[in-house]
Amino acid sequence: MSSTSFNVRRVRREIEHLIGGDNVSDAEIDRVCYSRDAWPLRLMQLGRLVTKPRPDLIVWPTTVEHIQHVLRIANAEHIPVTPVSGGSGVCGGALPTRGGIILDLKRMNRICGLDEESYTVTVEAGLLGYELEQYLSVRGYTTGHAPSSIFSSAVGGFAAARSAGVLSSKYGKFEEIVVSLEVVLPNGELLRTKTVPRSSMGPDLKQLFIGSEGTFGIITELTLRICPLPESTQFASFLFPDLHTGMEAVIRFFRRDLRLALIRLYDENETRFVLGRFKSPPEGACVLNLIYSATKKLVSLERRTVTRICEAAGAEPLGPKPSKHWWDNRFDLYYPSSINLGPGMLYDVLDVAASYANLETMYWRMREAMEKLGVSTMSHFSHFYPDGGNIYVIFIGHAGSSEEAEAKYSRVWKVGLEAAHRAGGTLSHQHGVGLLKAPWMPVEHGPVGFALLEAIKQYLDPHNILNPGKLGLGSKASPSTDTPTAQGGDSP
Ligand SMILES: Cc1cc2nc3c(=O)[nH]c(=O)nc-3n(C[C@H](O)[C@H](O)[C@H](O)COP(=O)(O)OP(=O)(O)OC[C@H]3O[C@@H](n4cnc5c(N)ncnc54)[C@H](O)[C@@H]3O)c2cc1C
Repeated sequence: MSSTSFNVRRVRREIEHLIGGDNVSDAEIDRVCYSRDAWPLRLMQLGRLVTKPRPDLIVWPTTVEHIQHVLRIANAEHIPVTPVSGGSGVCGGALPTRGGIILDLKRMNRICGLDEESYTVTVEAGLLGYELEQYLSVRGYTTGHAPSSIFSSAVGGFAAARSAGVLSSKYGKFEEIVVSLEVVLPNGELLRTKTVPRSSMGPDLKQLFIGSEGTFGIITELTLRICPLPESTQFASFLFPDLHTGMEAVIRFFRRDLRLALIRLYDENETRFVLGRFKSPPEGACVLNLIYSATKKLVSLERRTVTRICEAAGAEPLGPKPSKHWWDNRFDLYYPSSINLGPGMLYDVLDVAASYANLETMYWRMREAMEKLGVSTMSHFSHFYPDGGNIYVIFIGHAGSSEEAEAKYSRVWKVGLEAAHRAGGTLSHQHGVGLLKAPWMPVEHGPVGFALLEAIKQYLDPHNILNPGKLGLGSKASPSTDTPTAQGGDSP
């Protein structure tokens, strides 16, 4: 049973009439399929056959007008609408916690135009990342956005959840790649931001929707920056005596104005995992995988400068193999959320970020707090910027039963995020908020900042139809009725 009551049959007929019967389903199999995304807690629940809450209807719009029709009906009847692009989100953002309509954008996957003069491409929101990159690469271009989920995630989801590709140190996070947006508001109105390189006409409205995870509007079309494919790509790895020395070297890259495509520094635990096939690292040693990707001249300069910095720091050069091996096998990695490890097992990844002044402290505090609860961790720092970077803390553990594992999972998240917050970090670098981190939004933004977000939500979506409960927004319009089984992460 969904927590929202409406006449499903009548609404289904109404939507079918407007957008065609092939684009709507209330079949049981579809409703079960859309009761999940890739959130590990949800997958743990599915492991014990908890398939509720489910949507009442699934709608696959093929045009922006279809979305406008559906939202007008949903707004008039106060029916929850949850958008889905790829469905690869790992925080429960696409779960239909209050039933209603799933709006799956995958049939809106057209490439609307390539502007080779301005170096932009305009696409619909349901286009999968790898389809976009295939289209661009045969023409000599790339967006540079290369998340590990590229085969199962779409551009609408990248923008909605502020995604980061593995090459973000060079190309930026997705919010930096978006030039302009088209968005359907909850009342069916259409908003387009201008396709211009930069602007100072007041606040940047597109950034209001980027990261809003479908709570403010449905992103339907995006214009993205593109770059020429790199002329040369080379790989390198170095083994540092410890994490601190590795981190200092990375900071020096930025101080020398280098912009490498990939910089991945592994802690001692993950170093053993990553380097195991090549050599047995000394205790405490940390491996740094690098990719140089630019013009031949620039790559050669980057190589020389980086090698000098690493060797001066006492790092052992390992040649290209470890880094190349990671690159070639990056899609084979088992991502914890892609699998169900079995009853009693718990696992996930905390992705946080901080300025360099806080980054290492944050790592040690998170690790200590999480490991105290009896889970194992291994971590890497994989998105570096001139002023700071992220940490990706993978944890795995077990408990006596599936229910106990789920409770422990929430405790691990709680202590990990608490430690990150106290160390001055942001509680999400690239995976968004969804349900998992919703209780942490007031902590992240402070009472004034969160009240402002709530006021925007109230203005845009007074009936709280768009992705209710996600990001912790909309409680003013209708207090949370989400089922406890769909809630994640203990309250802060
Ligand atoms: C194996 C694996 C590897 C991953 N690797 C990475 C990685 O390298 N980098 C990274 O950033 N993330 C990664 N992720 C997480 C995930 O792929 C990203 O969060 C991605 O941005 C989600 O895109 P999606 O299209 O699948 O979004 P969905 O899961 O469909 O949606 C995500 C959120 O956005 C909302 N939404 C979706 N479409 C729209 C729209 N058109 N308009 C408004 N709101 C919308 C949804 O309601 C939901 O709240 C990984 C996930 C997995 C399973």
